[in-house]
Amino acid sequence: MRCLNCHKDGIAKSETSCPECGAYFPLLLREMLPAGTLLCNDTYRIHSPLDQGGFGIIYRAVHIALDSVVAIKEFYHFHNEYNVLHNRLSKHKNLVTAQVR
Ligand SMILES: [Zn+2]
Repeated sequence: MRCLNCHKDGIAKSETSCPECGAYFPLLLREMLPAGTLLCNDTYRIHSPLDQGGFGIIYRAVHIALDSVVAIKEFYHFHNEYNVLHNRLSKHKNLVTAQVR
C-alpha cells in the first residue's frame, strides 16, 4: 500500500497509519472510491488510489476488456475550476468521463 500523504510505498495493508509521516489512513481514504468500483458501464475497475491533490484523486485502474492498466483522475466537484478543467480535458482523445457521485 502507498501513503497518499508522503508517498511511501510498501506499507502493509494491516497498518492503520503511515509509519513514515503518521497519516491516519481511514481519514486519508474516506473520500476515495473503493477497490473494485466499476466505471463507464463496467469498462474500468478501480484498483487503488495513486495520489491525491488539490484538484482530485488519481487511481490505478484496469480497462477490463483490454486487460490493460490505466490511470483515472477523479476531479473534486466542489473545486471552483471543475467545469473549466472538465471542458478542457474532455476534448482529449485518450480521456473518458464518468459521473460517479
Ligand atoms: Zn505517509
